[in-house]
Amino acid sequence: MSLTVKVMLGMGLGLIVGVIFNMIDSSFINTHVVGGLFAMIGKMFVNALKMLVVPLVFFSLICGVTGIGDIRVLGRVGGKSFALYLATTAIAIAVAILLATIIGPGKGFDMAGVDTTGVTGKEAPSVWDVFAGIVPTNPVASFANGDMLQVIFYTVILGIAVLMLGGKSKPFIEGCEYMNEVMMKVVSIVMAFAPYGVFCLIAKTFTEQGIELFIPVMAYVVTLVLALLLHLFGTLMLLLKALSGLNPFIFMKKMRPAQIFAFSTASSNATIPVTLRCTTQRVGVDNSVASFCVPFGATINMDGTAIMQGVATVFLANVYGIDLGLGGYVTVIAMAVLASIGTAGVPGVGLVMLTMVLSQVGLPIEGIAIILGVDRLMDMIRTAVNITGDAVVSTIVAKGEGKVDMAIFNDPDAGVMTE
Ligand code: ASP
Repeated sequence: MSLTVKVMLGMGLGLIVGVIFNMIDSSFINTHVVGGLFAMIGKMFVNALKMLVVPLVFFSLICGVTGIGDIRVLGRVGGKSFALYLATTAIAIAVAILLATIIGPGKGFDMAGVDTTGVTGKEAPSVWDVFAGIVPTNPVASFANGDMLQVIFYTVILGIAVLMLGGKSKPFIEGCEYMNEVMMKVVSIVMAFAPYGVFCLIAKTFTEQGIELFIPVMAYVVTLVLALLLHLFGTLMLLLKALSGLNPFIFMKKMRPAQIFAFSTASSNATIPVTLRCTTQRVGVDNSVASFCVPFGATINMDGTAIMQGVATVFLANVYGIDLGLGGYVTVIAMAVLASIGTAGVPGVGLVMLTMVLSQVGLPIEGIAIILGVDRLMDMIRTAVNITGDAVVSTIVAKGEGKVDMAIFNDPDAGVMTE
């Protein structure tokens, strides 16, 4: 049985167990089994994934930069991926706003009974600060904090310097290639525990997520899920087909493990090792492109999160009976695209971004209290969309550079893990 099938089984079982535990609602189960054992195993698994991210990105990116070997090509890959990441996020949120405007969720919603205490906003950072913050003052601190944009910046500069030193760099490059292989093996070791980790994460979430949380905000949930699915299966797949010519069905199938991990962990950052593995070993994207585009996308590209900003803004505008007008929605699009650049792909960050977006267009941020209860599940779905967007752009950029191995792409068994 392949690992993907085992992970899917873990997910399915977790869902069933979670729903049953939610119905039983026993304080022993809730405290000791779910809040104790499941929470511990789930956390250990997510921690183990996070533990891989920085060293994996460092070594694979050094190999990537030295593998490309030409600073102009490097610049082209960086420029193209940045432009595509911004464009896909902007399209995602524009379509989401349009869809939400047509469906019109939130009209006639009764705010009475919604507890708005404890909702605090966050000031949006200026665009200039976001860009200035990409350059680290202390790379050791960036590595220790897992600040991905700074880690990427430092590693790319280091890789360029290594390239410039020519022949002298050979032993260092060989060392990094060896370490990259070692890290890939460590990924396999951690992945072997994935079925149990995923089971515990999903069971915990569904034990805690009562159906009663969804009923009052059903219109919001349905609109958001529709917009996310439209982007995932519509926009992204059309773009993939149009810009790379690759078969979207094969691509989707190959990305499934990464989507499951993103869904279970609700973190694009923690999923980087799996996204990287799927894009290189299953889709066939060369490491020289994937090692840069995937971690870069995990931080700056958040299509699913942007979609949530759009749908939530329309929903809350309807709840409060405020007409934002075209100008308001254009501000929402710009804000969401900019905010996604500076924020890390970690659970719940979409809500923080939403406080920035709402205050920018003058909507009361207390409104977030209405959607708070359903946000974890929405976060899981939008994170799966986020990482698929990262992989689509990485693949399009790689195809443009002639760096997709079609033999791997067309081989259904490529990169399948059986351990
Ligand atoms: N959890 C999302 C991610 O990691 C971000 C968010 O929407 O909250 O990509």
